[in-house]
Amino acid sequence: MSIIVSKFGGSSIADANQFRQVRRILASRSVRRYIVLSAPGKRDPHDDKITDLLCSANALYASGQDGSAPLQEVRNRFTAIARELSLNVDIEALLANLESDMRHSADRAASRGEYLCARMFSAYADIPFVDATELIRFDENGRIQPDEIRRRVRAMADRLYCAVIPGFYGVLPNGEIKTFSRGGSDITGALVAAALEADVYENWTDVDGLMSIDPASCPDAVCHAAVSYRQMQLLARAGAQVLHPYCLEPVCEAGIPTMLRNTFAPEQPGTYISDHVRTYVPCVCIRRGFQAVEIADLGDEASSIVDGLPVQRYHSGDGREMIVLQSTKDIHGHPANIVSAFGLSSARRTEAMQCVDPIAVQHLDHVSEFVVSPEQSVKAMCILHELILSGTVKASRTHSGSCAPCHLPQ
Ligand code: ASP
Repeated sequence: MSIIVSKFGGSSIADANQFRQVRRILASRSVRRYIVLSAPGKRDPHDDKITDLLCSANALYASGQDGSAPLQEVRNRFTAIARELSLNVDIEALLANLESDMRHSADRAASRGEYLCARMFSAYADIPFVDATELIRFDENGRIQPDEIRRRVRAMADRLYCAVIPGFYGVLPNGEIKTFSRGGSDITGALVAAALEADVYENWTDVDGLMSIDPASCPDAVCHAAVSYRQMQLLARAGAQVLHPYCLEPVCEAGIPTMLRNTFAPEQPGTYISDHVRTYVPCVCIRRGFQAVEIADLGDEASSIVDGLPVQRYHSGDGREMIVLQSTKDIHGHPANIVSAFGLSSARRTEAMQCVDPIAVQHLDHVSEFVVSPEQSVKAMCILHELILSGTVKASRTHSGSCAPCHLPQ
């Protein structure tokens, strides 16, 4: 029997309207049977994520201060959802333990957004709630226990035709809650999909799918129809924040495709991720906050330390060897970002060097990495994007011209 596991991210489930939208999406395909939810995220760019509010409440209480202001914000958000949807839940009882949860531990505090969201969605959509503590198990060292998780998820599916499961957390052998790192509901969804050998793992967010570049940086971004897990892994390393990097392995190993879908535009086809996709798609992404240091400028002691480290080496246009390190106050190099271009053919590298004029560069198998100053980053991204997509760059975008089409800084 077909099974789709559908995970909805924070903005997809941010308020009462989004609860309605998620229910509509589920109703449109009955095989969407196991639902994993994040905590309500931002309703607009100036809003707070519930998880951030919970983390600040916990931090305040833990340092002996008063965390009631962020906690009240959390209460207000959930109470508003319950009221607007006329939910048949005792919201006061549901929120009653929040303050002691905040004082208990950082992980328990952070997990309550997913817990409450899934409890409320379960009541709204009339789908059974299954707590993540029943399914997602860690060992005493905090490592997930895949066999135990598979056994528990399958037992749940034998019992329940469909379920709503909170993402982001599980339980340690001592009964304490443990969360994944931020964005970790993706991992919960992937573990559940893998355990059930689902036909598809759907990951619903607020973008159409894998974009060729962040649309906020460049309006010419296109959405890719398909991409391989292998490239998704490389993209995650290159800074793309599409999926939690640790969610790829369970579904990839189980041979389950992932579909990226847009909750706000469910009519869009999305992006299909599978290792049956053989080609690499053109993409540009960025990692920020580095220092570029010329190896020749390092003292003897520092050079010998660097020799022993697995750091990648880049080359400036005139052949000087450079390394790029995460910024710390002890390093004095050039502030730099790394812009990665997937799909830049070797025939286009010279043109790319001329147009981008990077501090340094490195060409690997499927990706070219350009080390650029923070001020030049957005422009470099747009130039490389144009080059990999259309094979050429408009004269107006090169380093000597103005960049009128994007209004980019020089
Ligand atoms: N709510 C958590 C976060 O904001 C986990 C998640 O959304 O996946 O990071």
